[in-house]
Amino acid sequence: MPRKLDLTGGTPVWCAYRSAAVPAGRLTRDAKTDVLIVGMGISGATMAEALTRDGHSVICIDRRGPLKGSTAATTALVQFEIDQPLISLCRMIGGDAARQAWRRSRLSLLNLRERITGLDIRCRSADTPSLYLAGNRLDASDLRREAEARHEAGIGASLLTRKKMKEEFGIDRTAAILSHGNLALDPRKLTSGLLRRALERKARFYAPAEAIAIDDNRVGVTVSTRDGPAIKARHLVLTTGYELLDIVPRMDHRIISTWAIATRPQPKKLWPLTALIWEASDPYLYIRATSDGRVICGGEDEKFTDEERRDALIAQKTDRLEEKLGEIFPQLDAAAEFAWSGSFGATGTGLPIIGSVPGHPRVHAVMGYGGNGITFSQIASEIVSASIAGKEDADASLFAFKN
Ligand SMILES: Cc1cc2nc3c(=O)[nH]c(=O)nc-3n(C[C@H](O)[C@H](O)[C@H](O)COP(=O)(O)OP(=O)(O)OC[C@H]3O[C@@H](n4cnc5c(N)ncnc54)[C@H](O)[C@@H]3O)c2cc1C
Repeated sequence: MPRKLDLTGGTPVWCAYRSAAVPAGRLTRDAKTDVLIVGMGISGATMAEALTRDGHSVICIDRRGPLKGSTAATTALVQFEIDQPLISLCRMIGGDAARQAWRRSRLSLLNLRERITGLDIRCRSADTPSLYLAGNRLDASDLRREAEARHEAGIGASLLTRKKMKEEFGIDRTAAILSHGNLALDPRKLTSGLLRRALERKARFYAPAEAIAIDDNRVGVTVSTRDGPAIKARHLVLTTGYELLDIVPRMDHRIISTWAIATRPQPKKLWPLTALIWEASDPYLYIRATSDGRVICGGEDEKFTDEERRDALIAQKTDRLEEKLGEIFPQLDAAAEFAWSGSFGATGTGLPIIGSVPGHPRVHAVMGYGGNGITFSQIASEIVSASIAGKEDADASLFAFKN
């Protein structure tokens, strides 16, 4: 049986903004399609848009409903900068593969930006620089090596000294890496925009509809749903977030609990460039602003899954995040207007796992794990749509399931 997780708790800030509804009907009888997508978060949405663009007939199902999983809770710092520093990733998977993973992440982020513009999805997307602050995981000299490693990979990165950080951003840290070309956006608007483009191309959406069993052979896949009807497809794409169906091998991953807050709008008090801020620390801290000047601050991750325990900690974690936000930016009103929790999955390398499930060539799975889930969902839509079109993406093996 598929694993179930209560994915979020509290009230995410995105509830303050309207996003266009995504209509989904009831699945009352068996259905047939080219591609069935299970899961209607950001990963399912990027996939549905790409596959309908390629001319496939598409059905999407979700056991909760569109946008009711982790995507509703994300803080949406959409970065090409992978959680795993390039210098560490080189040690883990070798220099060539690590540099290529970072380059692909950079390229896919550019593709996502063009996709948003090309499809005219109004998701308050803004090109935003980022500041990666020295912390207890990487100090100033590590950050110097990290910036050099990125340069060697062809990725721009400027190392800022303590003096520059103070002068230009008013932040007191020994060093930071300044990067350009990341995005800040509203994840619900992006996801609903992509799903609605797929609907315009005649995709069919059903919810609540839960996939409970998969039967596949050389020519196709049949998925049974909890309420009875079955769906036959030429290909199945599993974009179920951190809840995995049994057919997906349990790779090296774990579920982590995380927390976030958002303040009232205070556009006049924001920092220069409203850069995305993230810290090379454990526990992790990150900060961004919304388009109307709220400040989102998240992190404080802990390595446990228990959702009740996670949600019981919201008040305590809110205090801690307010305190940390106030330390970095004393000019801000750090009081939380929104506070929420979520679960997210992490692999050892910080890279997603994307591709057909070993032994099941027509079943594709996307495990867009880590703090870059949105960027990874773009990469996944590129790799899986190529594979379904009978082509091989040049980086497919980098992210594939390893036997
Ligand atoms: C607090 C928080 C902050 C984050 N911050 C960032 C960030 O700043 N930047 C970033 O890029 N990423 C961030 N992430 C990660 C990012 O949000 C996720 O990686 C991303 O939203 C996952 O999207 P998804 O579509 O894969 O999963 P989900 O949004 O969880 O969607 C999966 C869907 O599949 C459905 N489903 C599951 N099993 C079944 C089944 N058997 N049958 C039918 N439906 C099923 C679920 O109901 C769900 O709706 C954050 C996550 C959290 C929790």
